[in-house]
Amino acid sequence: MAQTRLVILGCVEHERLTFELLEVRTRGRYLTRLRGISREEQAEWDRRERAALAQLVDHELEHGCGR
Ligand SMILES: [Zn+2]
Repeated sequence: MAQTRLVILGCVEHERLTFELLEVRTRGRYLTRLRGISREEQAEWDRRERAALAQLVDHELEHGCGR
């Protein structure tokens, strides 16, 4: 469903940043479930996720493609 929305937006950079965010989220959660990660590792994944999200939001604001 998210994929369909991306196609409609038609912005390659937006698509790339969205994919990056999803990848960070998916990998962080996968690791958490797979073996359980330390609080430090969890904090690192949270930081990466926030950074990826911030990049995406910044891009939307600059490019105006988030609407
Ligand atoms: Zn864009």
